[in-house]
Amino acid sequence: MENRINKGQFIVNRVKKETEDVVTIFLSATDKTFTFQAGQYVSVYLDKDKNSQAKFYTISSAPEEKKITLSVKKIGNFSSALHNLKVSDPVYLSGPFGWFYPNKDMDNLVFLAAGIGIAPFLSIIKDCQNKNIKKKVDIFYTNKTLDDISFFEDMNKIAEKNDKLKVHYCLTRDKVKNEFIDRYERLDIKYLKEKLGDLTNKNFYICGPISFVSDFRKQLLVSEVKEENIFTESFF
Ligand SMILES: Cc1cc2nc3c(=O)[nH]c(=O)nc-3n(C[C@H](O)[C@H](O)[C@H](O)COP(=O)(O)OP(=O)(O)OC[C@H]3O[C@@H](n4cnc5c(N)ncnc54)[C@H](O)[C@@H]3O)c2cc1C
Repeated sequence: MENRINKGQFIVNRVKKETEDVVTIFLSATDKTFTFQAGQYVSVYLDKDKNSQAKFYTISSAPEEKKITLSVKKIGNFSSALHNLKVSDPVYLSGPFGWFYPNKDMDNLVFLAAGIGIAPFLSIIKDCQNKNIKKKVDIFYTNKTLDDISFFEDMNKIAEKNDKLKVHYCLTRDKVKNEFIDRYERLDIKYLKEKLGDLTNKNFYICGPISFVSDFRKQLLVSEVKEENIFTESFF
């Protein structure tokens, strides 16, 4: 059962550079009661003041891992402040929140991610690996260039050990040859049909910027995927 906390203190343990504009922040809890489901998010505060600003970040680690990780793309003021965190700095988390995770009976999963929208899916596939749960999962992960792909090696290692998990990488502004890249064009519904065949018997989870999420949701509905088989999380 999840245990929701309110501005619980965490300490930065490590800041790892994933790509040019994404870091993963490793946090240790001072309060050990914090639990979450893979796919959930927290609100992050940089100080404990009543009126301090908060933003949401998805937990990219799996619940079984010792440290909680947040993977943050540098965009504006708040995310830049998170990029500047140093080892031993405190941060304050409330949560966990959200329902962006498949229930345990669901199979035939398709995860669509743009950029840092991969964070909940990384947590979910690590959780499945840790629990030895083997569902059929196709991840379609789109980025501009090869260097923009976060968690490239982590995901490939997980997929290598699980023949039911396939990661389809798409690059929109890079032609560099790499054995793992499936497509050098925009991810679109035609490509999903080419790779998956019938879409109507699958469960779709979509995560990324609002336009990516809403475009795919609309296109899936037009392709007769039922509303109850489409789950979305927009990062705004
Ligand atoms: C449920 C949820 C989970 C989230 N999880 C994550 C996560 O795991 N990792 C993560 O990095 N972020 C995540 N976000 C987004 C995060 O909460 C912030 O919105 C983001 O870090 C930008 O905040 P900022 O203050 O740095 O930039 P802002 O000052 O808010 O934005 C600066 C400028 O960038 C534009 N902008 C905002 N977001 C984007 C974007 N995604 N792409 C392009 N332009 C943009 C804005 O319109 C604005 O013009 C999540 C959001 C939600 C709602």
